[in-house]
Amino acid sequence: MGIVIESDHNATAQELIQYVDSALFKAKKEGRSTFAYYTSELTRLVVERMAYERRLHRALENSEFELYYQPQVHFLSEKIVGVEALIRWNDPEFGLISPEDFIPIAEETGLISPIGKWVLEEACRQGKAWLECGYHLNMSVNVSAYQIQNQNIIELVDNALKESGFSPDKLVIELTESAMMQREEEVVTMLHILRAKGIKLAIDDFGTGYSSYSYLKRFPIDILKIDKSFIDDVPYEKDDIAIVQAIIAMGKALGFSIMAEGTEQIEQIEFLKAQGCTYYQGYYKSKPIPAKKFEELFLQHIESSCKK
Ligand code: C2E
Ligand code: MG
Ligand code: MG
Repeated sequence: MGIVIESDHNATAQELIQYVDSALFKAKKEGRSTFAYYTSELTRLVVERMAYERRLHRALENSEFELYYQPQVHFLSEKIVGVEALIRWNDPEFGLISPEDFIPIAEETGLISPIGKWVLEEACRQGKAWLECGYHLNMSVNVSAYQIQNQNIIELVDNALKESGFSPDKLVIELTESAMMQREEEVVTMLHILRAKGIKLAIDDFGTGYSSYSYLKRFPIDILKIDKSFIDDVPYEKDDIAIVQAIIAMGKALGFSIMAEGTEQIEQIEFLKAQGCTYYQGYYKSKPIPAKKFEELFLQHIESSCKK
């Protein structure tokens, strides 16, 4: 319930309805069975949000989004075997905007659906273009909880693969634990259908969500991505060392590949390699970079691995 108390009789009926709407919006955001009072601060927030939403719409129409790519390295061969596609927003007014800022708003407004569709299509298009140059790279794409609930992921993936001609066995879909826990039965079925097409599945930010053992058994998972927060302090913090060792041992025993996220230091790389971790992704190799920059990095990488 949204509540507005009008004492000085300045507002029109229309304005009162707008005020109570913004109070209602706040109450809904705070959960069910609750109420919120209208304040002038709320109007400011609602106006700001509407402006943001309009800018996001415009961004889609004007192609202001771009995918950056971050390399993923195989520990044993030291080869770049894949990339993660990470969205960036080149706002003409505010410059480069991080997904951490706009993805939550895109989710709340439902705009994540057309944005997510664009990401998948663009990543498959780029993956196919690289395949044609002889770059055999896995392409990881993030799919958010909202998309799982509201979009037909199978149809979306099928279309993106068909239009681009990209190989399904090079496509990796990254889901977080919380995305998998919603509508669990349907998600299990969907993941099995994707898996049957050859598409790989990764759990993103592993260890930060529910980390329930039962889903590790039920879901057809290929890769566990250990969250950066556990990687940050290895090999120095004993609890993190124990957690990372345990995730690697358990994941490998269950037949998954393990990827360490957010690896920045050589000490982390050495520790993870000694533990038998399969892949790493992090600033140690490269930050996420535009496609052209990635091509330069990849060519240098191939040359230096051939000289070894
Ligand atoms: P994520 O999928 O876990 O992606 C990894 C994030 O960690 C990226 O942030 C990456 O730049 C950052 N990172 C990687 N290595 C390092 C490192 O060594 N040090 C540090 N400090 N950071 C590192 P980014 O690109 O800002 O993305 C943030 C999150 O936004 C992603 O987390 C993902 O959840 C979401 N996201 C990004 N692109 C998309 C997209 O296309 N669709 C959806 N649904 N979500 C996306
Ligand atoms: Mg990810
Ligand atoms: Mg992650």
